[in-house]
Amino acid sequence: MVTIQSERPENLAKLEAHIRRDLDILDYPKHQWVHSRKTSDGKNILDVLVIGGGQGGLAVAFGLMQEKVRNILVIDKNVEQHEGPWRTFARMHTLRTPKYLTGPDHGIPNLTIQSWYEAQYGQQAWQDLHLIPKETWADYLHWYRTFLGIPVQNQAEAGAIQWSAAENCFIIPTSSPAGNGQLFARKVVLATGIDGSGEWEIPVFIKEKLSPQRYAHTRNDIDFSALKGKRIGILGAGASAFDNASVALEAGASEVHLFFRREKLPNVNPYRWAEFVGFLNHHGDLPDADRWRFILQILRMGQLPPTDTFERAWAFPNFHLQGGSIWQSVAEKGDCIQVTTPKGTFEFDFIIIGTGFVTDLSRRPELTNLYPDIALWSHRYTPPDAEKNADLSRHPYLGPAFEFQEKTPGSAPYLNAIFNYTFGCLLSLGFGGASISGMKYSLPKIVQGITRQLYCDDKEIYFKNLLAFDLKEFER
Ligand SMILES: Cc1cc2nc3c(=O)[nH]c(=O)nc-3n(C[C@H](O)[C@H](O)[C@H](O)COP(=O)(O)OP(=O)(O)OC[C@H]3O[C@@H](n4cnc5c(N)ncnc54)[C@H](O)[C@@H]3O)c2cc1C
Repeated sequence: MVTIQSERPENLAKLEAHIRRDLDILDYPKHQWVHSRKTSDGKNILDVLVIGGGQGGLAVAFGLMQEKVRNILVIDKNVEQHEGPWRTFARMHTLRTPKYLTGPDHGIPNLTIQSWYEAQYGQQAWQDLHLIPKETWADYLHWYRTFLGIPVQNQAEAGAIQWSAAENCFIIPTSSPAGNGQLFARKVVLATGIDGSGEWEIPVFIKEKLSPQRYAHTRNDIDFSALKGKRIGILGAGASAFDNASVALEAGASEVHLFFRREKLPNVNPYRWAEFVGFLNHHGDLPDADRWRFILQILRMGQLPPTDTFERAWAFPNFHLQGGSIWQSVAEKGDCIQVTTPKGTFEFDFIIIGTGFVTDLSRRPELTNLYPDIALWSHRYTPPDAEKNADLSRHPYLGPAFEFQEKTPGSAPYLNAIFNYTFGCLLSLGFGGASISGMKYSLPKIVQGITRQLYCDDKEIYFKNLLAFDLKEFER
């Protein structure tokens, strides 16, 4: 374990010493227990491969290490310290969620972001902190990874996962600047992000009518300095749409119009409602019809920007909200883009798409070989007509530990050895993957699901061990 430079390194070093002591005290049972495996040509078969080195992947990996599952690897296609959105396409100043959320700490107080922050900046600074700056969250995650010695390989992108009956494991092709490779793993965790069960979506009518240089999705790199003096149209009213509006305004855009379907912007956040034990820990225990209606209601209540995100844009006189204004059509008219809505036609120089992502496993490169056999909600539950929702129907019908299930029992039994820790778990298990809100309760579930399989898969080996066990307590 190593330490990281900080404002008060001596205090951080003290905290790290406390954590080491905590981990030593909590170090039970002590025995390594997972039986390592090799391929027929002697290559290491990982117990678990975690795809995605963001908060989710790191926290699952540490949870597994705590349970003595050590033959693991986390891979991430991004460069180090650029995992997730925090230093890439997130354009808010702070996290949206309250600072007191716990999760990656696995219940160890000294491992929380509060302890890490206080060790460096003092308790008063934490008291005075309203929301956690996103870069600070990214710094915490990087310290968490480095201090805990989580094995992460950056700039390694996982390709289409393949099950090998011959090797009785998954084969995962990887590509990296250093060349292509292959990994072998008994279990795979998909911690590939909020869009990890689908794709960031640009509406088809926009892709068909506009040349790519006339628009960008909030997920894309955007040269905001080029928007100085420009008229900007933004489609969508979620937090990211407002973040991008603010950055464009701060960069000197002449005017920004943000369009949304509803007449009025929703101002009640169902995600705040959901932050209680019942929903966070037990949504997955409800019958299908109830899981469906709860999540459908949350979606129907709509996404909205947090107060500070709203006010950041609202402070600009050249920022305009356009409610009740779906985009009926878009067209290129000379140098400008014409957007037609029920409330009139607008002209812009550039548009930003803030419509989020769709859930659709068929769009995931990692699942190309496997998608056809994965059970979706459309295969398990038919909602009443009034509750139909295409995106929810495409959600994976996950097991209690985030594992995929077979569409047709017996057709692909290995699918339950892949754990979907992305936002695609929403309908099956609530806020589990790809949200800080759900980590406290989702992490124990996924870690236990994996250790359960690793033990049960090898029950014959353990029984043989028991039969052979002859450690004498005393000599007679
Ligand atoms: C702009 C934004 C702001 C958010 N703010 C909050 C917030 O304030 N509070 C909150 O609770 N949630 C928030 N979320 C939701 C969620 O917490 C974040 O998306 C968070 O990053 C999810 O963590 P993760 O580890 O699941 O995924 P990520 O942090 O996205 O990490 C996934 C990683 O997987 C890697 N990856 C993907 N595919 C592959 C592959 N095939 N091979 C190798 N690597 C791969 C990516 O490079 C990425 O680094 C926000 C989301 C966004 C997009």
